Amino acid sequence: MSEWLTDAGGPGFAHTYRVEEELYRGRSDFQEIRVIRNADFGRMLVLDDAVQTTQRDEFIYHEMLAHVPLLAHPAPQRALIIGGGDGGLLEEALKHPLEAAVMVEIDRQVVDVTLRFLPEIAGSAFDDPRARLIIADGIRFMREASDPFDVILVDSTDPKGPAVGLFSEAFYADARRRLRPGGLIAVQSGSPLYQQDLIRLVRTNMGKVLPHISTYLATVPTYPGVIWSFTMGATGGDPTRPSEEDVARRTAGLDLQYLTPAVFRGAFALPPFIARDLGIAG
Ligand code: SAM
Repeated sequence: MSEWLTDAGGPGFAHTYRVEEELYRGRSDFQEIRVIRNADFGRMLVLDDAVQTTQRDEFIYHEMLAHVPLLAHPAPQRALIIGGGDGGLLEEALKHPLEAAVMVEIDRQVVDVTLRFLPEIAGSAFDDPRARLIIADGIRFMREASDPFDVILVDSTDPKGPAVGLFSEAFYADARRRLRPGGLIAVQSGSPLYQQDLIRLVRTNMGKVLPHISTYLATVPTYPGVIWSFTMGATGGDPTRPSEEDVARRTAGLDLQYLTPAVFRGAFALPPFIARDLGIAG
C-alpha cells in the first residue's frame, strides 16, 4: 500500500499526492517539516501537511510574488522578505539590481532542510553579498526594526500559529512605517475559491494603512484550488500599470518561466466571479 499526502483546501476537498519517498521528517519549535518525492512534482516541502513548494512549480509562485511588486516600483533598492524559508523568493528578488535583500524567517530548520534537500530552490541566493538572513519573528522585527525598505514581500504560511499576526492591521501599520516614499508591500493572500474571507481581511487591514490596494492572481498547481491570490498595497500611485515596455525591459535576461509583460497585465484582470466574491468593482 502506498502512502499518500493529503493537503486540505476548503472544508470539502483536498489535494492528494503519492509519496514515492520520504526524504526528511522532523519537528521544529514551530511546525512539522517534511520533504517528500512525488512522481509528478518532484521533491516537495511540506509544513504541517500543507505543501509549500515543489521542484515542478515553485517558479510560478516565487516569480509572481517577487517580480510583480518589484516591477511595480520604479527603482527598488532595498527589499525585505518575511517568511520565505525555502529561499525561492529571495533568489527571484535578487535578480533585480537591488542594494540589499533582508529575509526574516522564524524557523531556521525550514531554511536548513530546504538547503539540504531542495538546494536548487534558493540556488546561491543566501551567498549573495546583498542578502542577509535573520532568524526571528517577522512580526516582532517589523515592530522593532528601523531600517527602511522600498518593497516588503510576505511569503508566509497560512494564518495559523506564528503566521496569524502577519495578516493583521497592526503588522501592516508597522510595515507601512518601514516603507520609503513610493514603497509597496505584497503578500500571498490565499485561495479565491475558499479563502475569500482571508483575502477580504487582508484588503481591509491593508486598506486602513495604505491608499492603493490591488489583488492579482496566478495559477499554482500545488496550492489547493490552484488559482492563488496575492495582494499588494502601495504608498501612492497605481502600482498595477507599469507599461509593457518597462516590464519587458526590466525582465529581459532574467530567465523567467511564468511572468511576461502580458501575464503581468492579465494577473490583475480578476474574473467576475472572484471580483464579485471579494466585493471589488469590475
Ligand atoms: N510559499 C508558501 C505557501 O504559500 O505555502 C510559503 C512558504 S515559506 C516556507 C513560509 C514560511 O513562513 C515558513 O518557513 C514559516 O516558518 C514562515 N513564517 C511563519 N510565520 C512567520 C513569522 N511570524 N515570521 C517569520 N516567518 C514566519
